[in-house]
Amino acid sequence: MTGSTVPFFSPRLFEEDRETVLRLVHATGTDPGQRFILGAHTRALEERLAESLGAADVVACGSGTSGLTMALAALGVRAGDEVVVPALGCAPLASAPLALGAVPVFADVDPVTLTMDPADAEARITPRTRALVPAHLFSTMADMPRFVALARRHGLRLLEDSAVAQGAVLRGTPAGLWGEAGVFSFVQVKTFGMPGEGGAVVTSDPELGRRVRLARNHGQAEGERFTHRVVGHNSRFDELQARIQLHRLPGLADRLARRMAIVERYGELLAPLAGRGLLVPPPGRDGRCGYVYTVLADEREALVQALRAEGVEPHVYYPRPLPRHAAFAPYAPRGARWPRAESAAARMVSLPLYPGLTDAQVEQVAAAVRQFVERSPLAPRRPEATTP
Ligand SMILES: *Cc1c(COP(=O)(O)O)cnc(C)c1O
Repeated sequence: MTGSTVPFFSPRLFEEDRETVLRLVHATGTDPGQRFILGAHTRALEERLAESLGAADVVACGSGTSGLTMALAALGVRAGDEVVVPALGCAPLASAPLALGAVPVFADVDPVTLTMDPADAEARITPRTRALVPAHLFSTMADMPRFVALARRHGLRLLEDSAVAQGAVLRGTPAGLWGEAGVFSFVQVKTFGMPGEGGAVVTSDPELGRRVRLARNHGQAEGERFTHRVVGHNSRFDELQARIQLHRLPGLADRLARRMAIVERYGELLAPLAGRGLLVPPPGRDGRCGYVYTVLADEREALVQALRAEGVEPHVYYPRPLPRHAAFAPYAPRGARWPRAESAAARMVSLPLYPGLTDAQVEQVAAAVRQFVERSPLAPRRPEATTP
């Protein structure tokens, strides 16, 4: 083993803000207004995010998951509707439609970007389909121009799961604004993570924003307590977290840039191994984000063991497609297959990626991967598994 150990998750997520966080806990607790949710700081955070994105509205809420559910409801998704989602991704993609009584319809993914394949999604559209929910995955945005065209062609609503892609831009349009609405998650490990639960719905449609605002606080309009206009949720945003996020916002651009620099360095060091049982994310910066760096390895378990032996902690997600979970299998057609999602789930390995990684740690991680590939008895090509 060379060098230090490299943990997968940053062990010091908020260390640099320690003093400020302590001060803000005190300031919030002793504020004469005694306002702990949906106050002036939440509003200020929403306005700053809306300005920086060029969005009509940003609605801070309790989590990315509840943001997805509320945005789907605001888009008119109702019980019995079908919502096309990727077969590979995180649970809320399936559970958000189900929370509304709608049915998730799983579409296969692109073999390289691992995001929902527009052609496969189109093949699954039926007269009951109401909405499409492409999701950006790890470091690569979904093919949003094609999803926008697909939604128009079939008269469908388009919600963009941009929970992992805050700060990413595709052809000049930020992640979150390609869809009629998008969501961000601020849970600790996300690119604008914070010490707790929270998220936001972003939209260029003020009317959608108004509906989500009503939904997040029991159907009450702001300044109109105990008047419930619609059945809503408790998905409110903490004032303490809003203060912390306002403090962290000016540093976000630098942290995102550091993440992207690490993505590019991994790409430079690992791309030459292509065709030897390893596939890396596509090159370039457009439509890319620095959330998680995921490679596809034909010999995944051996690679995981080899990385650990070198002091590098990898992480395997997602180990199985959504319709292969007990929770969601009942909603998938019997006998259906998602060959590319299944193949990816069997090969995905994610490498450490966070702003606090040193250049030396990045080199150490890449060297451990390279050493594994070069020593692997399987190194002589299995091109059928690695070319798109
Ligand atoms: C994290 C995540 C969510 C959910 O966000 P939470 O804030 O954890 O509820 C939704 N979709 C994707 C793709 C995510 O990565």
